[in-house]
Amino acid sequence: MTTEVKQMPGLLPDEWLVSYAAGALTEAQALVVATHVGYHPALQARLAEAEDIGGAFLEESAPAQMDDDAFEALMARIDAAPEPAAPAPLPAGDEDLPAPLRRYLGRTLDSLKWRTMGPGMKQHKLANGPGGERLWLLRARGGTAMPVHDHRGTEFTLILRGSYHVGDQHFTPGLMEVAGPEVKDHQPMIDEGEDCICLVVTDAPIRLHSLIGRMVQPFIGL
Ligand code: ZN
Repeated sequence: MTTEVKQMPGLLPDEWLVSYAAGALTEAQALVVATHVGYHPALQARLAEAEDIGGAFLEESAPAQMDDDAFEALMARIDAAPEPAAPAPLPAGDEDLPAPLRRYLGRTLDSLKWRTMGPGMKQHKLANGPGGERLWLLRARGGTAMPVHDHRGTEFTLILRGSYHVGDQHFTPGLMEVAGPEVKDHQPMIDEGEDCICLVVTDAPIRLHSLIGRMVQPFIGL
């Protein structure tokens, strides 16, 4: 029996959970997925199932018979494997954020250095991954219209604080927007009120529509 979870906007589709469980995501994508899952008990249950399915698949695809030497060698390797290390203690503050992100940052969002990237928008770069992948935090003032853009790859945006909307879709803390090349003229509108802080990973540069945006793009590194 599998738990029925309706695929709803803002929750990551199963295939990403399966890829995460299989260790097939980049480190940056894995951090975003682990943080997203940290908000949703239903996704934690789905992930546990995906891990079971992955384990069952491995068992089925293992050779039916192993000779005794190979078996003993395998058991010796398992015995010799080090105990998994205890997770690092959580830094103080930001109790509203899931543990994977707090551990990764090792400090609070407010204590990070934020660089202005445009009117009402600041960023904090976290990491560059393989193939032009970028992991960063966006901090946008309430009421800001994000620059209109298309996507050459996949853009994951996980909302941590505040909220934004795209058309009639509303994204609040814990919800994730996945936008691929099929999403054109993408323009998140930050809701009025507190700053909206998002964890973003893109695997290819976005394509900004405005000339000024394209001119500053190399400098802000998106
Ligand atoms: Zn986008």
